[in-house]
Amino acid sequence: MIRILEKNVADKIAAGEVIDRPVSIIKELLENSIDAGADNITVEIKNGGKSYIRVSDNGSGIYADDIETAFMRHATSKIRSVTDLNSIGTLGFRGEALASICAVSRVELVSKTADAKMGRKVVTEGSKILANEGIGCPEGTTITVRDLFYNVPARQKFMSSDNAETRRIIDMVSRIALAYGDIKFTLINGSSKVFSTQGKGSIFNSIVSVYGKDIGKDLIAVESRRGDFILKGFVSSPASSATSRSRQIFSVNGRIISSKVLEKSLDEAYKEKLFHGRFPIAFLFLYISPEKLDVNIHPTKKEIRFDDAFEVQDFVAQAVKDVLVTKEALPKVYAENVKSDVPDSVDDGCNQVDIKNLLTTLRKDEEISHEPQVNEPQHFEYKGIKSQEISLEEPECRPFDFSQLKFLGSIFNTYIMAVDGSDFYLIDQHAAHERVFYEKLVKQYDSSEKLSQQLMMPLNFNVASHLPQTEDDWIENIRKMGYDIEYFGNKTYIVREIPAFMELKEAEDFLNDIFKELEDRPDFSNRKILDKIIMRSCKSAVKGGDSLTDTEIDALVKDMKNCVNPFSCPHGRPTFIRMTKYEIEKMFKRV
Ligand code: ADP
Ligand code: MG
Repeated sequence: MIRILEKNVADKIAAGEVIDRPVSIIKELLENSIDAGADNITVEIKNGGKSYIRVSDNGSGIYADDIETAFMRHATSKIRSVTDLNSIGTLGFRGEALASICAVSRVELVSKTADAKMGRKVVTEGSKILANEGIGCPEGTTITVRDLFYNVPARQKFMSSDNAETRRIIDMVSRIALAYGDIKFTLINGSSKVFSTQGKGSIFNSIVSVYGKDIGKDLIAVESRRGDFILKGFVSSPASSATSRSRQIFSVNGRIISSKVLEKSLDEAYKEKLFHGRFPIAFLFLYISPEKLDVNIHPTKKEIRFDDAFEVQDFVAQAVKDVLVTKEALPKVYAENVKSDVPDSVDDGCNQVDIKNLLTTLRKDEEISHEPQVNEPQHFEYKGIKSQEISLEEPECRPFDFSQLKFLGSIFNTYIMAVDGSDFYLIDQHAAHERVFYEKLVKQYDSSEKLSQQLMMPLNFNVASHLPQTEDDWIENIRKMGYDIEYFGNKTYIVREIPAFMELKEAEDFLNDIFKELEDRPDFSNRKILDKIIMRSCKSAVKGGDSLTDTEIDALVKDMKNCVNPFSCPHGRPTFIRMTKYEIEKMFKRV
């Protein structure tokens, strides 16, 4: 039943200007259709939604007696009391959308419940009800919104061009479609279909339907549970990042939101795995019990507040980190990239309309490349969230096992060749060494016990006469790394001990680099800056280009195994490249 909220409840709702452009109408109407339990929703727009929007669903419909109430302000069937606000399990709860939409447009609503013989049609214009009559129609609800802001010309000016509004709508409907893999969404612009999802519960299929086949390559499935947190979705492997966050799509309990907390989780998970200025692609759908978040904080509901943001951030970061150390996350060589005159057979595997062009204008410049294995979806229901079923695709994430590697030698004095059961690898020995060096140094810095080796002949370092730092600012930090360093007078420092894991030359080059940094006045007391300096200095300290002996290769790989981030150097370059047996066979046209 739809009721008008009591004043004390209505007053607690973080309301604001809900309708500012066509896309906000569509978002509200879609939320209503989803709340009504629909599993088939069609959105049609004309002129960027300015002249025409129609959303039809096969949901519960509205009872004839309720239908006029639905248009009133603060009229909702979803909550009743202030306590209901603490555990909102639906997308809507304010009872404002229909009222706000019909205040600024011409609306026609046709609806029928399962038990009603006939449906009802209500016609409104600027909040006035012009007609309410019986009509024959299928079960569900269809709302048509025409001539947005026809009665508020001032607001018309604030809308963008038809194309720009269309792009906003495509973006919004795409995001919502991804969060609801069980619902079949169709988006029609004018007379052409933009996309349509299958509604069979596979997130991967939906991603491919909406964003095109290419994006599916290089996505790795994420699935994790901790207590009553559930996370599922896909993230890009470090080899295929984007230049912006525009393809980081998050939903929490089915609500598409922007979230600093989730962005931070991703940054944490991809730390040191991407070059500066690159961002992972991510489609992450989080489910948590509705009491643990506040959805009532933002006028258009696009932000939420987690009760325990830290816990959420840690959970999501860990879940993503876990899949980034699997085989699937290693950069992979593709047979498609090998030129040959024999044509590849075209196997599209996906019967969706091509909206790549549309979306390339919408979002530019992601570099993506492979296809994760998608297994049969497995279904389960999450308590407290009525409106959707969460289906899980078993992610195919085989852990990388260093002990399975067999070494075949190295090439160009730089790349170690290795093989395990089904894959061939090239390991960049310089990048690998750099990674090991960096992690050992940071570990030593953070630990209370310093492992050092005494030098037979102390090293001398002459510092520039204009060294702008006082000793207090930096010398302790160098000691923390395991150096025994002291001022000798006359702009000279003397080093008697170096970190145990370093070779003499490495220790010397590293310190020379640090002294160079000191001249440029970075702030050594700031841990972030210090980490960056260490990172940079590792690069020059670690030598490359020498052929390694078998024992050296063994030692290097053993060290990598102990790294937190073995698959990239500290600057984000890969240490491993993977070539599957299948891709090799494909290149030789055996399969
Ligand atoms: P809210 O979603 O916050 O409850 P709305 O103004 O969006 O408020 O909708 C008011 C009421 O109208 C809803 O609570 C719901 O009962 C009913 N309603 C709106 N759209 C639909 C729909 N597509 N199917 C079934 N009921 C709907
Ligand atoms: Mg609503």
